[in-house]
Amino acid sequence: MAKRDYYEVLGVARDASDDEIKKAYRKMAMKYHPDRNKGDHQAEEKFKEAAEAYEVLRDSDKRSRYDRYGHDGLASEGIGFSNFEDIFSHFSDIFGGGGGGGIFDGIFGGMGGRRGYNGVRAGASLKCRVSISFKEAAFGCSKTIDLRRSELCEKCSGTGAASGSQPTVCPSCNGQGQVYRSQGFFSVATTCPQCNGAGKVIKNPCGSCRGSGREVKNVRIKINIPAGVEDGTRMRVANEGEPGPQNGPRGDLFCYIMVKPDDFFERHNDDLYCEMGITFSQAALGTELEVPTLNGHARLKIPRGTQSGQIFRLRGQGIKNVHGHGTGDEIVKVLVHTPRKLDAKQEALFRQLAEIEDKNVSPHSKGMFDKLRDYFTEE
Ligand SMILES: [Zn+2]
Ligand SMILES: [Zn+2]
Repeated sequence: MAKRDYYEVLGVARDASDDEIKKAYRKMAMKYHPDRNKGDHQAEEKFKEAAEAYEVLRDSDKRSRYDRYGHDGLASEGIGFSNFEDIFSHFSDIFGGGGGGGIFDGIFGGMGGRRGYNGVRAGASLKCRVSISFKEAAFGCSKTIDLRRSELCEKCSGTGAASGSQPTVCPSCNGQGQVYRSQGFFSVATTCPQCNGAGKVIKNPCGSCRGSGREVKNVRIKINIPAGVEDGTRMRVANEGEPGPQNGPRGDLFCYIMVKPDDFFERHNDDLYCEMGITFSQAALGTELEVPTLNGHARLKIPRGTQSGQIFRLRGQGIKNVHGHGTGDEIVKVLVHTPRKLDAKQEALFRQLAEIEDKNVSPHSKGMFDKLRDYFTEE
């Protein structure tokens, strides 16, 4: 089978920068990652092919030889990878350490099968839900979470072997964790069925964990939720998942944050929205309102002639951005409330107003007219 052009494999131009090459490889590695394509041999081949292309193109020396002489220029180098573990350990900058970068996971955080630098698998990641109030989301808070989590067995320290004994090297795979089967011209590596890839077998299992090396425990974890989180945010708490097999690093804990709604405020991004009612006279003459804010109250000047639905902005009274990009505003929508019931004096004044405006209004109901007359004769 003819080897494909390395630039073509990664889908980059021949003059692509190192950064572009790395990005392109990362994309390929994600797409054909064995954890996402279990048992798909075509994906496996693509994954290896991309790794080989990246190995050459990221190295300026190998790249220039390849540019000049093609695949022949690297014939003596032993380019390429026979198994996944080689790829993972070789490119630990791509696969190692969970992808790094803050508590909100990006592309890498969501993947199972995080791997350490020496190719060992990380433990399983866990999920939990945390419900917080609107104000806790706005100001940040710390919460304790109770989890049931698989931990290393205390009695055997996770080895699974009874005290005084040690796991022994698996005879089927000689400790490799993989066995090779011939398939035509190819030799295919699969996980050793006797030791499940551990490379070790336990003759004398620990009585406490029956050889699993694990026990389920209740643990309490304190997490700090930053100010400004939104409802539905997934927060990564690094290394609070289950311990990895064969001393691999712990998986992560993913906390799904649920924010309870507030009675008064609604949130859109970092801005707070609320509504305040005012009367006709306040709208016409202007007023100063006391408006609730997250921190207490603020005075808001309503100018003369304010219309119903008009919007006012209290700068910096919104929610602090979770990534530290400033603070939102509080947006107050003013609604002019039409009185549903008028007492006699209000009725009289509104009618007087209508007269001045020379506007036609509905007449009094008879009872009301009588009451009104009584009212004026009283004076
Ligand atoms: Zn044990
Ligand atoms: Zn084995």
